[in-house]
Amino acid sequence: MSKATTSEIASGEGERTFADGQSNAIEIAGLDKWYGKYHALKNIDLSVAMGKRIVLCGPSGSGKSTLVRCVGQLETFQGGTVRVFGKGLDGVRQDGSRGRPFAGMVFQQFNLFPHLTVLGNCTLALKRVLRQPTAPAREIAMHYLEKVKVHEHAHKYPAQLSGGQQQRVAIARALCLEPRIMLFDEPTSALDPELVKEVLDVMTDLAKGGMTMICVTHETGFARAMADEVVLMDEGRIIEVSPPHIFFAAPKQERTRQFLAKVLQ
Ligand code: ADP
Repeated sequence: MSKATTSEIASGEGERTFADGQSNAIEIAGLDKWYGKYHALKNIDLSVAMGKRIVLCGPSGSGKSTLVRCVGQLETFQGGTVRVFGKGLDGVRQDGSRGRPFAGMVFQQFNLFPHLTVLGNCTLALKRVLRQPTAPAREIAMHYLEKVKVHEHAHKYPAQLSGGQQQRVAIARALCLEPRIMLFDEPTSALDPELVKEVLDVMTDLAKGGMTMICVTHETGFARAMADEVVLMDEGRIIEVSPPHIFFAAPKQERTRQFLAKVLQ
């Protein structure tokens, strides 16, 4: 498979060249990931330019989650390279003690700590990972809670919030560490339909603010409106990388047509 490259580097503010001459935010080359004897990612090449948004789609089990988890350093991998802002990830799980992570991750299950308030959830990593004292940690947390419009619930516990509010807290929590990229793994799949929009709105705001993002999502409306490129994965491989107007209207691959015929029914 030839190298899948996203659109040209964003011009103006978004464009930056790194110490080693790289200008992509994320550069994945020849990535191979095995779970025991199961070959979950097969020779993945993918580049994401600064400030660009990639939507990953594909059938269940095709490797989407594994791919974002490799970029987020939540999975080890056995072959190839993943570079984020020019720095090679070694495929070894990080323990959170190495300072500010490159990536913020948001999952389908919000993964908030039930015994901590909204504010406590957001300040925890600031205090533990970045060693921030309580007062500035709270200030940062309130800033991002306000950004996702849940600041009025800062002193509540997760169980007292709707799913959409919990997911927005999870996004604020990730933003508190001021990551340079955001990775979303089916962030709206566990939500009641009427709560999906409030989370997509927050993601849209982030995208419009220039955040580099990889999103695994079935929300084709979001993909059409916000993705710079849509990627189809199947059986651990990248099948197609196309801008949304091509991906949805005139896909290059027959496999993409088959997939769309099922999801767009
Ligand atoms: P997707 O996100 O596209 O649904 P995943 O990345 O979750 O796919 O999974 C890809 C494949 O890897 C699936 O066959 C899944 O069963 C397998 N897999 C995922 N996580 C693990 C794991 N921790 N151990 C073993 N197999 C796994």
